[in-house]
Amino acid sequence: MEAVARAKKLSIRKNDMVQVMSGSEKGKTGKVLQVITKENRILIEKVKMVKRHVKPSQQNPQGGYLEKEMPLQYSTVLIFCPTCNRGVRHGVKVEGSAKSKGTSAGKKIRFCKRCKASLETA
Ligand SMILES: [Zn+2]
Repeated sequence: MEAVARAKKLSIRKNDMVQVMSGSEKGKTGKVLQVITKENRILIEKVKMVKRHVKPSQQNPQGGYLEKEMPLQYSTVLIFCPTCNRGVRHGVKVEGSAKSKGTSAGKKIRFCKRCKASLETA
């Protein structure tokens, strides 16, 4: 029998700024390049860079090393709050109501639990 991983809603999205809170990359911040929902992993720009050996090819006749990001566990990163200048836990609130007009009605807004500022990048 397989252990069922608790389905966790991944509320970090591509292009969010995040901070790594644990592990070898602790303290680093970067932009989310990709969210791998199936694996609960996140690829962050310039974080957890690994060197990969590249065989000589037509584009790269010398071969050599290519630096590439490795995905991190979702649980080790938090959304970076520019106001608090650190990774923070966030909440989600729904902006507007069904009554209000406009396209923002019912839009989910993530906010910093420390300073209450919106974490949505406009
Ligand atoms: Zn904050």
